[in-house]
Amino acid sequence: MEKRVRTRFAPSPTGGLHLGGVRTALYNYLFAKHFGGDFILRIEDTDQTRFVPDAEEYIMETLKWCGLEPDESPFKPGDYAPYRQSERKPIYREYAEKLVANGQAYYAFDTPEELTAMRENFKTEQNPSPKYDFSIREKMSNSLALSAEETQKEISDGTPYVIRIKMSANEKVSLHDMIRGDVSFNTTDVDDKVLLKADGMPTYHLAVVVDDYLMKITHAFRGEEWLPSAPVHIKLWENLFGLENMPEWAHLPLILKPDGKGKLSKRDGAKLGFPVFAMNWTDPRDNEFTEGFRERGFVPQAFVNMLALIGWNDGTEQELFSSPELIAKFDIGRVHKGGAKFNYTKALWFNKEWVKTLPGFELAPQVKQLLLADGVTEKQIDSDAILAGIIDMVKDRCTLLPDFVSQTDFFFRRPASIDTASAIKKWETAYGIFYREKLIPQYENCESWTAENLENIFNETTAAGGIEKPGNLMLPLRIMLVGGKFGPHVFDIAALIGKKESIARLKEGLDSIEKAFLEKQ
Ligand code: GLU
Repeated sequence: MEKRVRTRFAPSPTGGLHLGGVRTALYNYLFAKHFGGDFILRIEDTDQTRFVPDAEEYIMETLKWCGLEPDESPFKPGDYAPYRQSERKPIYREYAEKLVANGQAYYAFDTPEELTAMRENFKTEQNPSPKYDFSIREKMSNSLALSAEETQKEISDGTPYVIRIKMSANEKVSLHDMIRGDVSFNTTDVDDKVLLKADGMPTYHLAVVVDDYLMKITHAFRGEEWLPSAPVHIKLWENLFGLENMPEWAHLPLILKPDGKGKLSKRDGAKLGFPVFAMNWTDPRDNEFTEGFRERGFVPQAFVNMLALIGWNDGTEQELFSSPELIAKFDIGRVHKGGAKFNYTKALWFNKEWVKTLPGFELAPQVKQLLLADGVTEKQIDSDAILAGIIDMVKDRCTLLPDFVSQTDFFFRRPASIDTASAIKKWETAYGIFYREKLIPQYENCESWTAENLENIFNETTAAGGIEKPGNLMLPLRIMLVGGKFGPHVFDIAALIGKKESIARLKEGLDSIEKAFLEKQ
C-alpha cells in the first residue's frame, strides 16, 4: 500500500512570516493536498534565545488567512502531539545518547572562550575560519579526546556539555532532491554540529530528524539555506533509523530582490515601497515594523496565486489559479532550481485580476471594515447586500482593497467637497438655469427612481430645453453626485443613492459650481 503523504511546515517562531516562508508552507500544503495527504504545522521553538512572543499566533493567523489550514498543529493536535518542539524536550536526549553510545556522537565540554581560542589558534591561510571538525576535535575538550574517567568526572562535576555529531572525514553523502536531482556532499566540508545543547534542548539538526521520523513525514520541503546541512541530517537518518522512512527532500530556491541581486529581505520592502511579510508585524523586541500584504489590501486568493508562481508554473501560459486548481496542478518537480525575482507590479496585477473575479459579497466584509475605519457608519452602509452590489459596480476600477474606499464612499455619505474646477471647465450660465428650473424639478417629480428613468428624463429634458451639447452637462452632474471625475455610470449611482439624497446633492452641488463659476469670471 502506498504511504499516506504527510508534509510539514516547521517555522521557528522568531517573528513575522516573510514571503519565502509562506511559499514554503504553500508548496508543502499543495503537495500534501494533491495526494490527499496531511499538512502539519510544527513549531520549532528550541532556540529559547530567539523566541518571540506572539509569533506563533501570527503564523497560525497567516496560514488561516491564506487558506492553508493545517490538519495537525499545536492548536489541533493529532496522533503525534505535541507539535511544539519545546514540549518534546525529553524525547531528543534519548536519541542523542544513543548516538553517543554507538560512537556516532560525543560529549563536548568546551567553554565559549575555548571555542573562540580554537578559531584563533587553528587559523591558517588555507583555513581562515576553522570549524569544530575531524581535524580539530581530538585537540579539544570532549569525550573523544579525554579518557572515559575524565569524561565521567566532567559529567559528575556538572560541567556544562553539548553533544556533537561525529562526522567522518572524506565520506561522500548523497541525497536525491525532488527539485535539484542528485546532490552529493563531502563530509570533509561539514563540521561536527551540536545536536543537543547545554540546556538539554536539541538543535534544529537533531530535532528535525527525530520529529520527521516520529511524525511520519514523507516529504520535507524547506528553504535552500538548509542544503549545506543536509549531509548532517542524512547521517543522522542513517545512524538513528537506518534511513528507513526518510522523507523525500526538496530545497526551495530563494526569492530574490526585484533586480535579482541577492535574497529579498524584509528591509527591501520598506526601501522599495512594497510589503514583504504576509501580514503586518511589529517586533516586540525593538518595535521594528514590517508591512504585510494583507494590510496593503491584497486578497488572499491573489497572494497565494502570486506566491505559487514565484518559481513554479504548470508548463502552460496560465497564470491565474484558484487554490483547488493549484492543488490539482502543483508538481514539486516543476519548481525551478534558480532563485526567482520578486516583481511587485506583477503582484498588483494578480490582485487586480482577483478583485475583478471575486463576487462582491465575498469582498464586502473586508471593504466594510475599511469603510468603517474611514468614518462611514454602519447606518450609512445600510445593508451588506447593497454594499456587495456597489462593490460589483466598481470593482473593475480597483487594484487594492483600500481603493474601494474612494470608489464607494460617495454612495454612503455626501462628498466633503466637490471638484468644482473640473465642473466649470465647459460650464455656461444657461446650464445653471437649466438645472435649477428644468432638470431638478423633473427629478423631483420622478415617481420611479431607476437608472433607466433618470437617464430618459435627462435626455428628454435636455432635448426639450434646447441644450446643444447635453454631454457638457454630464460631468458636472457626476461631480455633484460623487465629488469628482470617477465612479461607475452616473445614473446607476443616482439610482442607488436614492431620490432624496441625490436631489440634495444636486442642489448643493449646483450652488458650489455656480459660485466657483462666478468667481472665475
Ligand atoms: N525551523 C526551520 C526554519 O524555520 C525549518 C526548516 C525545515 O523546514 O526543516 O527554517
